[in-house]
Amino acid sequence: LRELWRQVQDKYAPNLYGWRPTDERYYDRVVETRPREEVRKIREEKLRILAKYLWEYSPHFRRKLEKAGLRPEDIKGLEDLRKVPITVKEEFVDSLNKSPPYGDYWSVPPEEWKKEGSVLYMTSGTTARPRAFMYTVHDWHMLSYVCAIDFYAGGVKPGNLVLNTFPMVPAAGAWSPFYGILRIGVPQIATGGMPDERKATLIRDFGATVLFGTPSYILHLADVARKLGIDPAKDTKVELIFVAGEPGGAIPSTRRRIEEAWDALVVDYPGSTEAHPNGILCYEEALDSSEQHRPPNIHEAPEFIISEAVDEKTLEPLPPGEKGLLIVTNIFLEAVPLMRYLQGDYVVMDEEWQCRCGRTAPVFRGGLMGRADDMLKVRGVGVYPAAIEDVVRSYRELGNEFRIIVDINPQTGMDELTVEVEPLPEVPTERWKELEERLAKDLRIAIGLRANVKCIPFGTIPKTITKARRVVDRRKKP
Ligand SMILES: [Zn+2]
Repeated sequence: LRELWRQVQDKYAPNLYGWRPTDERYYDRVVETRPREEVRKIREEKLRILAKYLWEYSPHFRRKLEKAGLRPEDIKGLEDLRKVPITVKEEFVDSLNKSPPYGDYWSVPPEEWKKEGSVLYMTSGTTARPRAFMYTVHDWHMLSYVCAIDFYAGGVKPGNLVLNTFPMVPAAGAWSPFYGILRIGVPQIATGGMPDERKATLIRDFGATVLFGTPSYILHLADVARKLGIDPAKDTKVELIFVAGEPGGAIPSTRRRIEEAWDALVVDYPGSTEAHPNGILCYEEALDSSEQHRPPNIHEAPEFIISEAVDEKTLEPLPPGEKGLLIVTNIFLEAVPLMRYLQGDYVVMDEEWQCRCGRTAPVFRGGLMGRADDMLKVRGVGVYPAAIEDVVRSYRELGNEFRIIVDINPQTGMDELTVEVEPLPEVPTERWKELEERLAKDLRIAIGLRANVKCIPFGTIPKTITKARRVVDRRKKP
């Protein structure tokens, strides 16, 4: 069965072992332009085998199917997927606590993996034990192949030089793109833990044309460059910037800020440890959405991930066009394929939209719009940090960083929301009050809630190279 699973992957990915794009437009023309009817058949074939495969090899998913009274034969097509119960993150955390450090949501047991494994990625684990994900050598081929499709579609091409700013920790977001770019035949500099100043200088001196990092870090790097007397827009050759790890790539004002700082186009790379990449932002749509100052539409990767949008409360599947939470079924990995995992980003699935890049895959309209579990409940109202980010970063007087603090007002006993922002050094302190008032008004319109705005000196908020943590919740947890 394992052999069959690998064979079906290989059969439908003609350029899987080719280490160059098939032509000037596509990394794998066959897969990227396959008619939708054929794609549907392939998805169903993979799904049927996946059901048997998980039943046979994955302790976690077998339990899930058994509890729901399902047998692998019950999963015949895409419509049957909805019968499968959803897996949430907490189940993986439980599984890890019961059988550390790998848990039991794999399909290749750790002992076997040690003989044919390639890499191990894990989540950052700031709130819980890091979730570990094993990958086999076949997985490594598949992942780098899908990432190559992704980055080639986004505009990385031979002749480029990529500077990858991610620290090379065991995170999917750092290494999978690294290998994907390698497969396109484009060299890259992985700067890892190098000091910021060195990175900024390298970008200029070596003439890097493509950057890759978190939106916040790429913005920070522009500030660092300027301090060194390097104008990122004029003195570097950067033309394309891939961002990952934060929703910024789909937030118009953050995106514009990065594009103006570097005079380059921003391409969002959406993904999670559980499913990466979630989709593909093609160069054509990156360009159009940037010009029109709107969130980009991101192609699904339908032959590798089955994506569904479900209702936030009932978790029932939604018709296309309605905003819901993203559920992923990973139909391409060997060691950690998943069936109906709640990734939890807000998405709108759009099957109608035709892209001028010629790719047949449907899109997530407006991209991946941030995780539901990032939501803060303040005085009973849901507040999304991404909405605050969009407002703060549209202010030219303000620096890139901001902090959201939720506390309880000791007098009233009510939740208090404070947004700390850093005016640029050239903005005189006499103007702070006016800025605070104006921003508070705009925030109230954007989030529907009164927030205190506090200007603090430029450079107070610490920078991070990986996913920024901007929310400080000082309320006692019940
Ligand atoms: Zn496209």
